[in-house]
Amino acid sequence: MVSLTCKQMGMSGCNFSATGKDAEEVKQKLLAHARSAHADVLKGMKPEDLSGLQARLDALLARR
Ligand SMILES: [Zn+2]
Repeated sequence: MVSLTCKQMGMSGCNFSATGKDAEEVKQKLLAHARSAHADVLKGMKPEDLSGLQARLDALLARR
């Protein structure tokens, strides 16, 4: 099982935790969560911030 919390992604104050059988599943779950729960945050982000977020997600998951 792989898991990653929203806090690890830099969203302090959010207790969401995504778990899945592999990194890809966790990534999809976290992105889906972010799109619904943090839509306002994502909307305020520049494209480079968004790719930075994706890179951070990949880096965190690659360590498992
Ligand atoms: Zn969250």
